[in-house]
Amino acid sequence: MSEQLVDRFGRVHTNLRISVTDRCNLRCIYCMPEEVVFLDREELLTFEEIARLVRIGTGLGIDKVRLTGGEPLLRRHLPRLVQLLAAIPQIRDIGLTTNGLLLEQLAEPLYQAGLRRINISLDTLDPGVFRYLARRDGLDRVLAGIEAARRVGFAPIKINAVSIRGITEKEVIPLAHFAREKNLELRFIEYMPIGADRWERQKVYFAAEIVAQLEKAFGPLEPLTSDPSSPALEYAYADGGRVGIIASISRPFCHHCNRLRLTADGKLRHCLFALEETDLKTLLRGGADDGTLRRAFVDCVAGKWEGHEINTARFIKPPRTMHTIGG
Ligand code: SAM
Ligand code: SF4
Repeated sequence: MSEQLVDRFGRVHTNLRISVTDRCNLRCIYCMPEEVVFLDREELLTFEEIARLVRIGTGLGIDKVRLTGGEPLLRRHLPRLVQLLAAIPQIRDIGLTTNGLLLEQLAEPLYQAGLRRINISLDTLDPGVFRYLARRDGLDRVLAGIEAARRVGFAPIKINAVSIRGITEKEVIPLAHFAREKNLELRFIEYMPIGADRWERQKVYFAAEIVAQLEKAFGPLEPLTSDPSSPALEYAYADGGRVGIIASISRPFCHHCNRLRLTADGKLRHCLFALEETDLKTLLRGGADDGTLRRAFVDCVAGKWEGHEINTARFIKPPRTMHTIGG
């Protein structure tokens, strides 16, 4: 058996999330500050550098990647990266997480390049709430992006909705109706302390509360036993279709975590909330051979902690905000 990315707790890592840019055309309040200095272009890993790292990762068992950011569709020629990754035989799954603003134009070329799985972030169907959360307009473009993804044939299309007490409770049912009508998989995400704002536990609108709201409107939900490494709790509606909740705060899934993250500037992170990272870009650009890069992957995973400690007084918020890590 070839070497795998196994940490001290026996977790095998097969999933790499790759941020392709820290730039964004929105400024979601839970993710990033309003004013930001973005990375210079030369600080971003090139597509060839990303593909080389993915190839090395596949030699260690990585078989699933997801492109994210910042807003990944802002990275020029993104379909070319998808093509490069799709050509790596061991990669069996390529996904993308996007805010959908540029999807109307890019859905077709991304599909042609080999992308099949897409997650689109949509927290509300109310333009005013959208503007408040994203600090920009854009709901119409996101909806047009979703339609384009459906037309082109992406499957599954998942909708990610961050859930924040006092802001998004009234979005739950309209979003659920919308997703059910359009055959989209809706997943609520508990609000996490990774943005620029002051996070407080009482601002999290918890999974159990979302389930209670959904059951009131649609009848009992049946919990589904899904892949233990999947962060989402999945439920089936009695009349068909499903809905998920990523309960990072009330039901952390750290024990089954199989993920690593590569930032747009080439830092490998063993956790979204990690306080250390491995600088692969400096190694890459310093002429490191594949064996050295391989060792860097293995060492990063070996140093992985048991899990985030958001629910304890020990929690320390990472210095990077979500848009510079990759969600
Ligand atoms: N820009 C793309 C988008 O919005 O889909 C991709 C990057 S974004 C950082 C990835 C996901 O992280 C989005 O679904 C977003 O809603 C989620 N996210 C950002 N900040 C979050 C937070 N503080 N808590 C929970 N989810 C968050
Ligand atoms: Fe941009 Fe996505 Fe962050 Fe919103 S959540 S600011 S769309 S990176």
